[in-house]
Amino acid sequence: MKERLLGKTPEELAAIAKEAGLPSFAGKQIARWLYVNRISSIGEMTNLSKAGREALKESYEVGIRPPADVQTSKDGTRKYLFEVGDNAIEAVMIPDAERITLCVSSQAGCKMGCKFCMTGRQGFHGNLDAADIINQFFAIDEAGELTNAVFMGMGEPLDNWDNVKRALEIITAPWGLAWSPKRVTLSTIGVLPNLKRFLEESKCHLAVSLHNPFPAEREEMMPAQKAWSLTEIVRLIKQYDFTSQRRVSFEYTVFEGWNNTPAHAEALVKLLRGLECRVNLIRFHKIPDFPYGTAPDTVMEEFRSKLEKGGITATIRASRGEDIFAACGLLAGKHNNNSHENQ
Ligand code: SF4
Repeated sequence: MKERLLGKTPEELAAIAKEAGLPSFAGKQIARWLYVNRISSIGEMTNLSKAGREALKESYEVGIRPPADVQTSKDGTRKYLFEVGDNAIEAVMIPDAERITLCVSSQAGCKMGCKFCMTGRQGFHGNLDAADIINQFFAIDEAGELTNAVFMGMGEPLDNWDNVKRALEIITAPWGLAWSPKRVTLSTIGVLPNLKRFLEESKCHLAVSLHNPFPAEREEMMPAQKAWSLTEIVRLIKQYDFTSQRRVSFEYTVFEGWNNTPAHAEALVKLLRGLECRVNLIRFHKIPDFPYGTAPDTVMEEFRSKLEKGGITATIRASRGEDIFAACGLLAGKHNNNSHENQ
């Protein structure tokens, strides 16, 4: 099988160009063909010599892979399924009035085992490489219209930081897609060592899956709490500046009977005090064999108003793509079915 050029940096492409007998500045030319002109075959790289292109073709291909399946929700959300090796992963395109957002997957399955998440239930099947991640941006029908991306699909992006970092570089570099980092949000349960790296090595926005301010209760549903405690996660985040360009938000899925009491709201206010942030309250989508249900709208509203009284900006996130199992926590990488946003 040929190696993909997609997902490589100009430096790596320069080395590949050299091997093919091309001058090393061809690395930049190839990057431009891949990420700016978005060509689909090496033959289209017309400013490279014919001999060079032929030599490249012997071992390499551009490597854009079309989706194996697409489902469209009645609200316009579309779920794309991609085959990656023996696994299937999903990307979700969410249109609204002003934006077209891509919800990106970073792993096939996930190791983190959050009990409310369909991805977590299927276990871990492998990391996506940068080509698999960038392919989600390039192979969908709305590829040219995307305005934003959220790493909230299948997998924990900070459990695959090297590949995700490279993808973020391609998305934001002037030689790549040249997106502002403000258009990209990475969502994590807080893999502490790599969270530090993300905060140091990237300027993209951060979303943390919080869901419960009480450690013992959080650990019940999110085993990763044992390794990386919320207190330490918030302590680390408070060391960085979120008062200007970069934003941090906290995802809080509201479960009836688990995390929706006034005591939870008060503890959340206390935990986040002093941090310029937002809390996104997410409606829980019922999954099989799970003890808690969806909180009614009135409960969501009351919880929001308690947070706002405590000085925390809070929004209730609209649910999208539920009928095609594309909503938060439902991604499972199956052709006829249905993440991370439910973290
Ligand atoms: Fe993994 Fe996120 Fe699902 Fe937790 S919520 S199991 S971190 S994909």
